[in-house]
Amino acid sequence: MIIGVLGAGQLGRMLALAGYPLGLRLRFFDPTPDAAAGEIAPLMTGSYNDHAALQEFAKGLDAVTYEFENVPVEAARALGQWVPVLPGPRALEVAQDRLVEKDFFRSVGVEPAPYRQVDSPSDAQAAVEELGLPCILKTRRGGYDGKGQVVLRADFYAADAWQEIGGVPAVMEGFVPFRRELSLLSVRSATGEVRCWPLVENEHRDGILHLSRCPARESTDGLQEQANAHARAVLEGLDYVGVLALEFFELEGRLLVNEMAPRVHNSGHWTIEGAQCSQFENHLRAVAGLPLGSTELRGYSAMLNLVGDTPPTAELAACEGLHVHLYGKEPRPGRKLGHMGICSSTAAEREAVIERAESLLRKSSASVSG
Ligand code: AMP
Repeated sequence: MIIGVLGAGQLGRMLALAGYPLGLRLRFFDPTPDAAAGEIAPLMTGSYNDHAALQEFAKGLDAVTYEFENVPVEAARALGQWVPVLPGPRALEVAQDRLVEKDFFRSVGVEPAPYRQVDSPSDAQAAVEELGLPCILKTRRGGYDGKGQVVLRADFYAADAWQEIGGVPAVMEGFVPFRRELSLLSVRSATGEVRCWPLVENEHRDGILHLSRCPARESTDGLQEQANAHARAVLEGLDYVGVLALEFFELEGRLLVNEMAPRVHNSGHWTIEGAQCSQFENHLRAVAGLPLGSTELRGYSAMLNLVGDTPPTAELAACEGLHVHLYGKEPRPGRKLGHMGICSSTAAEREAVIERAESLLRKSSASVSG
């Protein structure tokens, strides 16, 4: 069976690696010739707007999926004429526009932070008056890893904030005084079966995911049940097939949804070592029409991203309990170059391995900058 993937970054690369043992072959389509998955599997380069190229790509494929949610919806719809596209293009449409996404969440009973549509300086001002300060203005489209947004505090004019994000269609959100950020990886099969991995606790640095832990510390059955119910509502509402990630804010035992990713997600990389079946394998199983694998844990897991500088590979590889994954990408500030997976038999041991890894990274960045 051959599965086509739109986008060929590290997520695609890890999908391809997970596909080999199941006899699933992947082919990628990406505008960038040196995209990370191209080292592992065939890569066709072209524009997502070139429907003739997409038709050529579709030849011989059994299904198409994506590893990047900003693929033009029209590209996914065009491919749908020649081959099944999973998850369906509606999931892309919802995920690409923060306003559509929040309206959709509410329509299926999943509560986001309070929000208002902003299309003008006066809308921005009215939203501040209604939501109160602080609040946060985000572009509806194209934002990721904290880009395209600005936090409004007491000394900020709403109209300036709107100019700062480029004067484009936006949403204003009430600022959530969250305890922490959690995410949930879930998967739905072609027959409608839903499975969820346990909740993941996430820490960001400079707006980029730094550390994920699964299980989340001090997670409760109540929190997990809320998250699972939200995932089921979104998956069923979109008639979704594949892995879906939901990002939440935890607030006094309650979950508010922040956003969704209609694809495998950085906060699920720990599943490679830490779950019976990884997010990558389960996504492919779903898309290929195979039965889903178990989302049970193998231990206390974590994932640390390797961002920006060339990582100290030999030192990290020598560290007991750390699994190094490199994506074959050139170092660049803020670029995700790889990650480390951890799966320990106790929570305390997990913390010890995280600390050892952090200390190696600190030493290495001190030697790079010094
Ligand atoms: P996003 O691009 O929406 O994932 O936002 C990036 C980060 O900004 C999140 O991971 C949060 O740490 C923070 N953030 C976003 N929206 C809010 C909000 N409404 N209240 C508080 N913090 C937020």
